[in-house]
Parts: sequence; C-alpha cells; structure tokens
Amino acid sequence: MHILVTNDDGITAPGLLALVQAMRQVGEVSVIAPDHDWSGGGHVKTLKRPLRVRQVKLADGTAALTSDGAPSDCVALGVMGLLPKKVDLIVSGINPMANLGQDVTYSGTVTAAMEGIIWHIPSIAVSLDAGRSDLGDIDYDMAARVARFVVRTLTQIQLPKGIFLNVNVPYIPVDHLKGIRLTRQGQRVYRDRLDKRQDPRGNDYYWIGGDVPTGVPETGTDVGALAQGYVSITPLQLDLTAYSTLSSMAVWGWAQEDMLPVNGIADALSLSQIVAGLETAVTP
Ligand code: MN
Repeated sequence: MHILVTNDDGITAPGLLALVQAMRQVGEVSVIAPDHDWSGGGHVKTLKRPLRVRQVKLADGTAALTSDGAPSDCVALGVMGLLPKKVDLIVSGINPMANLGQDVTYSGTVTAAMEGIIWHIPSIAVSLDAGRSDLGDIDYDMAARVARFVVRTLTQIQLPKGIFLNVNVPYIPVDHLKGIRLTRQGQRVYRDRLDKRQDPRGNDYYWIGGDVPTGVPETGTDVGALAQGYVSITPLQLDLTAYSTLSSMAVWGWAQEDMLPVNGIADALSLSQIVAGLETAVTP
C-alpha cells in the first residue's frame, strides 16, 4: 500500500514525523507537506500562482517533498503526477489541535483529506487534542498508534465511495484512554475576538484573536467522545446538501409568479421548467 502523508503544520512539524514513522509500519510512504504552517487555511486550490516543490529530508532522514502550496495542493500535486506511483491512501496529520464540529472546513489537516476524496482516494485526517497550537514537546505516540490502527483497519474494510475519516485523539495518558467512539460532528463554540490595531504608519489592521474554542460535549458527537476520553472517528463527506430541507423546500411556494425575477432566470426558464427542476432535485 502506497500512503501519501501530509499535514497543515508544515514539513518540519513533529506530528508529521510521528505519522510518517507510524505509516511506514503499514506501507510504503511518500511525504508531501507545505513549507510553512497552514493551520486554519481551509480547502484551497491554488490557481493564480505557480506551485514550487523542493526535495528535503525529515529529521530522521526520510526523503520528502515540500511545496509552497496549501495542504490540499500538496495532495493534488501528489496524485496528479508528482509521485510516480499511484497513491492508495492519504493520511493527514498529526495536528496538535483537535478538529471537531465546524472546524472541518477551516482545518488544513481535514481539508487535505477532503482533497483526497476529490481524487477518489481513501483519506484520513488525524488530530490530537493537545489543546495548543505551538508544536514543542507534545507526545504524539498514542495518536500515531491510533492512526496506525485505523489504517490497518482500512486495509481490511473498504471505505464507501466519497467518505473520509476525521480522527481525533484525546491528549490523555494511554491507560486513561477508554477506546474508540464512532461519532457525528458536534458543536464547536468559538471564542474569537476581533482586535483592531494600528501599524507603524497609522493604518488600522485587524487580527482575529481570542481564546481556544470549546465545544458542546454532547454524547454521540466528536466533542463528546473526546471529553469522555475516547478516540473519535467521524465519517465525513463533501456533499454538504441539506437533504431534509431540500425536500421541504418544494412546498415553500416557489411556483408563485411574484417570487420570480422579472428578468434573469424568468426569461430563460419557464415556470414549469423551474418547478420541474425542483422536483428532480428533491427526488432521491
Ligand atoms: Mn495545524
């Protein structure tokens, strides 16, 4: 099995090295990771500038590639031809902060796995709930073991098409770990604060700061599992359609003439075409 390992904290991050070493016990590993910290960088496709790639060595001597692109760019580079060999699995991490609830579209760690799904490759994001973003002195051992366990499981069971896994590991002593919970996305509580400051030339600038987010530790959710001392594994998909709303939307009165724009789509589409389109959309 050929595993592409990436992350969002950058090629020098200790969490990446821990993951590479764990993955090497399961398969052949290629590493392509960003040349700087992209945490919070989201799902990115770099289109307006070239992507540069350099060969580097990780701290243990592992040959790796680093790019000035985002984590999702690194995945795209790897599967679109930068790596000579077909990638069977993408593993992103190990992030030092948990990626829970609404974090998933902000997270470079998770969106690297999302990019894998675009290319129809099974993908996993692995994050450790160490509660801080500085990278020094965090013990990644248990998270690396969990990542290895999950990947070994995936060699036996195939993930359904379009599904990737968001794995979060509590930062607790190994004998306190209770096991694994399969979860849904919970609720993050962001405590962001906008700081307005002035640069040396007197111009205002803004900084989104504040405290580390908390969450609602509801049972069954990713937030709840971590709070109770479990590894959380959430299956995610890129289809964000709100299916329950879609079916109820058909009765919202879209067919009324006064809701249609005078120009624009009303010119191009007849009322019956619009209604037919809605019916097609809500039919599973
Ligand atoms: Mn990160």
